[in-house]
Amino acid sequence: MAEIHDYWIKKCIRMAEDNVKAGQSPFASIIVRNGEAVSYGVNDAKASFDPTAHGEMRAIQKAGRKLQTLNLSDCVLYTNCEPCPMCLGAIYWSGITEVWYGLSIEEQAEFDTLPKEMYEEFQKADTEKKLSMKDLSSRVEGRRPFLVKE
Ligand SMILES: [Zn+2]
Repeated sequence: MAEIHDYWIKKCIRMAEDNVKAGQSPFASIIVRNGEAVSYGVNDAKASFDPTAHGEMRAIQKAGRKLQTLNLSDCVLYTNCEPCPMCLGAIYWSGITEVWYGLSIEEQAEFDTLPKEMYEEFQKADTEKKLSMKDLSSRVEGRRPFLVKE
């Protein structure tokens, strides 16, 4: 049964290699439902000037549009590299509960340390983080949009 997972990951690796040959970054993802591919996504951040255009994001966006749903809980996501924090968030938003990858964040750090650094950053106290985020909720009415009736 593990062979089927190897099949999809190997396909992601080949897609990622082709993506590099096309001038893009080495990342590709496939979303599978009931044993069949629902969508494919490759990182096209360089071509689209979109830093969020990761393979997982593209595959999730396409799967949602194709299946006309926000709930991909019956889908499995395959990706050649362990998802970065942004893609992991998108995976949670999509409801996907099963992810397989071909290279861990630790192993990816040999080539790009940012995903590993981001996960480490989240563990730090707010005062130690590089990113400055300020809470104005005591001075504005941030709850108002949630109370609007359709
Ligand atoms: Zn990502």
